[in-house]
Amino acid sequence: MFSRSVRLRMTTWYCLTLAAVLAAVSLFWYVALSNNLLLHLDEGLQETARTAELGHVYEQQILVPEQACSILELYSYTQDWSASLQLRAPNGDVACQIMGDVTFNIPYSADARRQVRIGTPLFETLPTETIEARILTEPVFRDGRLAWIIQVGISVEQVNHTLDDLRTTSLFITPLVILLLSASGWLLAGRVLNPVVNITETAQRITAEKLNRRLPVSAHDDEFNRLSRTINSMLGRLEESFRRIRQFSGDASHELRTPLAIIKGETEVALRWAKSEEELRQTLESNLEEINIMERIVTDLLSLARSDAGEMRLNINEFSLSDLLQDIYMHARTLAERDKHEVHLHLLVDSEIRIHGDQIQVYRLLLNIVNNAIKYTPAGGAIDITMQLRHNNRALITISDNGVGIDEEHLPHIFERFYRVDASRNRDQGGTGLGLAIVKAIVAAHSGELTVTSSIGKGTTFAITLPLEGPQG
Ligand code: ADP
Repeated sequence: MFSRSVRLRMTTWYCLTLAAVLAAVSLFWYVALSNNLLLHLDEGLQETARTAELGHVYEQQILVPEQACSILELYSYTQDWSASLQLRAPNGDVACQIMGDVTFNIPYSADARRQVRIGTPLFETLPTETIEARILTEPVFRDGRLAWIIQVGISVEQVNHTLDDLRTTSLFITPLVILLLSASGWLLAGRVLNPVVNITETAQRITAEKLNRRLPVSAHDDEFNRLSRTINSMLGRLEESFRRIRQFSGDASHELRTPLAIIKGETEVALRWAKSEEELRQTLESNLEEINIMERIVTDLLSLARSDAGEMRLNINEFSLSDLLQDIYMHARTLAERDKHEVHLHLLVDSEIRIHGDQIQVYRLLLNIVNNAIKYTPAGGAIDITMQLRHNNRALITISDNGVGIDEEHLPHIFERFYRVDASRNRDQGGTGLGLAIVKAIVAAHSGELTVTSSIGKGTTFAITLPLEGPQG
């Protein structure tokens, strides 16, 4: 539960931090105030000792303690002393006492005796028989000899009261402040995290069936809106790939169903009506043709599925691209014979070009394009195959025809699986609609680039760039 709620975690951390900060601040103020109050007391004690000593006793050069006492007593009436004053003889005996606001005997501690011997004053806080007191013990010297010991003492009860009050107030106020701020922290965390709750709820409602739904996005460019926008664009991509998968499965079944229906129909007719062995043979031959089409589709689909999974197995070797293009050219000429197409090969390079790659796949890709060029060019048209070398160690192969061309609206889709510009016509020509999808996959597997430009009625040019050093990465 604790680790599940960010809101609780945020509030707890906030609470703990707040408590630590408040405790540190309170402690600091407590120590600072108690030091300050003591300093104040000490200043008062020093002032009293100084007026007692300098103001009267010293100026009048009194050497006998009794005399000093009576003068001091008289003097004390004119002074506003709240502290008690005690005069001791050098041997430590009390000579006289003048009581301040509170009556108590000022003790003469061992520490004080030691300090007197060294000749330095001492401040100390000591318990007396009635109260706790702050005491200043100060030696007074005459002609280099210890003449008196002045002791001034004042009750620290007031200071203790003030500090007690502060402690009680802090102990009461601090938890209250923490409680109040934690409650507001809890509410604030709730408000801040509210969009996340909304996003989660909406995202939960979006299933594969409702991928067209989107998270609400407001105009603010804050973190949550950015998150929503990111999820929305991810949903967009998901929706698109779901659509493609659906279409692909539909297309694949459709493509396989057509030859299957033909095989089924012809077999049924033959079983029922065929009279001679010759008729049966014709049916079997026609069935074989359809089976071949199905086999091609299944093989093509398998290659594409492998390339999707990044498993297109390439058998990389160094081979002569110039020789391969010669072979393609020869093959194209044979194909072109029927409709009297002209085929030209232009190797715009100074020497033989060698490349690293899968020779069979590169052959397959170029043959696919050349095949299309012949298929979609009316009789007597021309097909041009060229090769040149680019500066960045890449071979550029272009295959152009002056055939039917491809309309702009179809151009972005021709590399999609089963996409055909004119489905009915193409099937007659033996196309499966997978050729260019395979071309694209082979080029990608070789880290190459593939572009197409076309103009309706004028022709089409495919340009393939392949790195000579083979697939990268
Ligand atoms: P198919 O097996 O139908 O030829 P492809 O994937 O090879 O499938 O090509 C996809 C579509 O692109 C074809 O149906 C065709 O309409 C179009 N196409 C491909 N090459 C050319 C070309 N050289 N000229 C005109 N159209 C072409």
